[in-house]
Amino acid sequence: MLPVNTCGGVRLHEPVVQIMRNSSSSDRVLGIASIFAGMVVVAATIGIVFLGAERLLRSDTEAAAVKWAENVLANAPDFDAILAGETPSERNLDFLSIALRGGDIFRFKIYDAEGRLLRVSDDMAAGGSDPAAPDGQRIEFAPPVLAGKVYSQARKGTPPGRPEFYTEAFVPIVDQQGDILAVIDIFVDNTQRRALYLQWLAGILGALLIIAAMGVAVPATSLWIRTRQKRVAEQHLRFLAQHDTLTGLANRTRFLENLTEALESHAEEGRQLALHFVDLDRFKEINDAFGHSEGDAYLRDIAERLSKLVDRPEYLGRLGGDEFAVIQPELSGVKHGEMYAERICSALTGTYDINGYEVVSTASVGVAVAPQHGTSAAQLLRSADVALHQVKFAGSNAIGVYTADLDDLLKRRLALQTDLRKAFENDWFSLHYQPQYNLKTRRLTGFEALLRMEHPDRGFISPADFIPVAEEIGLIVPLGEWVLYEACRTAVYWPDHIALSVNLSPAQFRRGDMPKIVENVLRQTRLAPHRLGIEITEGLLMESSQGVLDQLQEIRELGVALVMDDFGTGYSSLSYLWQFSFDTIKIDRSFVHALGSGSNVESLLQSIINIGESLDLRVVAEGVENVEQAHFLMANSCRHVQGFLFGRPVPEGDVTAIIEKDLRNAETTPNESGRPSRHTVAA
Ligand code: C2E
Ligand code: MG
Ligand code: MG
Repeated sequence: MLPVNTCGGVRLHEPVVQIMRNSSSSDRVLGIASIFAGMVVVAATIGIVFLGAERLLRSDTEAAAVKWAENVLANAPDFDAILAGETPSERNLDFLSIALRGGDIFRFKIYDAEGRLLRVSDDMAAGGSDPAAPDGQRIEFAPPVLAGKVYSQARKGTPPGRPEFYTEAFVPIVDQQGDILAVIDIFVDNTQRRALYLQWLAGILGALLIIAAMGVAVPATSLWIRTRQKRVAEQHLRFLAQHDTLTGLANRTRFLENLTEALESHAEEGRQLALHFVDLDRFKEINDAFGHSEGDAYLRDIAERLSKLVDRPEYLGRLGGDEFAVIQPELSGVKHGEMYAERICSALTGTYDINGYEVVSTASVGVAVAPQHGTSAAQLLRSADVALHQVKFAGSNAIGVYTADLDDLLKRRLALQTDLRKAFENDWFSLHYQPQYNLKTRRLTGFEALLRMEHPDRGFISPADFIPVAEEIGLIVPLGEWVLYEACRTAVYWPDHIALSVNLSPAQFRRGDMPKIVENVLRQTRLAPHRLGIEITEGLLMESSQGVLDQLQEIRELGVALVMDDFGTGYSSLSYLWQFSFDTIKIDRSFVHALGSGSNVESLLQSIINIGESLDLRVVAEGVENVEQAHFLMANSCRHVQGFLFGRPVPEGDVTAIIEKDLRNAETTPNESGRPSRHTVAA
C-alpha cells in the first residue's frame, strides 16, 4: 500500500548561505612574484646607478687632482728644485700654501721617481717651514702610476682630523720621453662633491624608478590584473556550470555530485540519509497564466523557502523546471524522513500574490532513503522520483515514501502511456452510451457518453485506469475534445428530448479555452446547447481557481447544462452548486450500492435528494443495479436514475434500438403506480 500522507504544518526559519566564493592562492603567488621581480629590478637599478656614480666621482676627483698638479707645475716657482730634493724657496712655499687653501686639495706629498718621499704639505698648510721627509721613507707605486697613469684611492675620515670622505690621487709627472720624474700624491676632500653626487644619484634613481615602474611594474601589474580577471571569469563560469542561474542553487550535475559525497560519507559512518524529490503542483498553470517572468519570481521564492529549511546550501538543488531536491543527512529512520518531507511540503504551501491574483501553491514530495532504496545517487534519485510519481498520480499535494511495489505500478503506468499514444493514432478509442431514465415516467431522458479503449491484445481497458494516465501526459486535452465532438455529432440525430452528457476532466480546463471548444463543437455539429450537459467532478471545484469558475460560468451562458458528477465523494461547497447554476447532481454510485448495508446511508441519500430539490436541481442516482435500490430512490422522490438495472453502456450502433424501444413504450399506457419494472425499462 502506498504510504501517502497529506501535508502537515511546521515551518522552519533557519539562516542559510546561498553562494560560496572560492579564493585563489595562485593569485597571491602571482602577486608576490610580480613584487619580487619589481624589487630585483629596483635593486639592480640602484646598484648600477651607484656604481656609475662612484666611477664618475672617482674620475672627477682624479681630474681635479691632475688639474691642481698642472697648475702647480706651471705656476709654482722653483718646483724643479723641490723635485731635485732641494729646500724650497720662500716664494715656492708661499705659492704651495696658497694653492692648498683653494679648492678641495687639503694635503699633498711629493715623491721622487723611486718612491722616496721628498715633501709633505702638512707643515706648509699650518704656515710652518716645510720639513724634508723623514729619511728613508719610501713607497711602492701602484702599477698604473708606474705606467704613467693617475691612480686614486678613496679614503674615509682616518686618521682623525681628515675629511669624512677624501681621495688620494697619485699623479705621475713625466718628461718628454715619458719617464717619471716625480709623483705628487694629492689628497682631495670629496665630502661635498660626494654629497652632491648622492643628491644627483637620488634624482637619477627617482627617475629610473619611475622608468622601472613603467617598464616592469606596470606590465606586471596589468598582467596580474588580467590573470585575476581571467580567474574570476573562470570561477564565474564554473559557478554557472554548477549552479542554476535563476535561483543560485546547485544544478542537477552539482547536486548529484553533492549527493554522491553525502552518500559516501554516510556509508562510511554506517548512517542513513533521505533524499526528498520536490515537485510544485501547479507550476505549469502559473507559468502559462501569468507569464515566464512571474513564473521565475515564483520559483525564486520557492528556492528561498527551501533554503530556510536546509542547514547546508549544498544539500539543496534545482533539478530543472519546477523540480527541487533536498538531502536530509543523519536520518534516524523512515519516520524521520516523512516528518521532514511534511515540513518541506508545508513550507511550500501557501498563497502567493501574483499580479494581484491570489494563487494557492502546493507541492508534492517523493522520499527515498539510503541505503535501503538505493546506494548510488542515480538509484536514490530514481527511487525518490518513483515515489513522487505515485504522489502526483494519486492527486498531488502530499508526500510519499518509496516502496518496491511502486516500481511495478510505474511500469504499468508507463506501458499504459505508450498504449494511449498508440490508441490515439490507431483508433482504439470509441464511445459507449449509457441511458438515463426518469423513474416516475419510466421514460428515457438521455445518455451519458463514456469513453472506451479497446487494446488489440488486452481487450477493453477501463477509463478509470486510463483517464488519469491520459491526464498525466496531457493527452486528455485532444482526447476530451474528440469525445465531445463525437458525442455531439452522434446525439444530433437523436430525438430532441433526448439529452447528452459528456464527462470533462479538470485537466481540460487548465488551458482556459474550454468554453470556446464547447461553442465550436456545438456550432460544427449543430447540436442545440440545451441538449448538452457537461459532467465535472468535485475535484475541479476544489481547485476553485478564478479561471475555472469563469469558464464554468461561460459554458453555462452558452445554454449548456452543468452536471455535478460523483456527488458526495469530494467536498465541494453547496454554495458553488447554486452560484454556478448547476442543473444536475449525480449521486455517486457508492451511496446507492451501500443501501441496505446497515450503514446510515439511507438518511444521507434522503438529505442529498432534499437539498437537490430545495436548490431546484435535478438529482440523478448513479449505479442503480437492483430493484430494491430503485424502490428506495423512488420512495424518496429521486426522479432520475442511471445504472445496469436500466441499461449498460452500449456502442453507438445500439443506441437507436434503446430510443425506439422507449418510443414504443411511450405509446403504451404508462404504469400508474410509477413503479419501475425490470421488464419494461431494462435494456
Ligand atoms: P462516471 O462519469 O461516474 O461514469 C459512470 C461510470 O459508472 C461508468 O464507468 C459506468 O459504466 C459505470 N456504471 C454505470 N452504471 C453502473 C452500475 O449500475 N454499476 C456499476 N458498478 N457501475 C456502473 P466507466 O465507463 O468505466 O467510466 C468510469 C469513469 O471514467 C467515469 O465515471 C468517468 O469519470 C470516467 N470517464 C468515462 N468516460 C470519460 C470521458 O469521456 N471523459 C472523461 N474525462 N472521463 C470519462
Ligand atoms: Mg459521468
Ligand atoms: Mg459518476
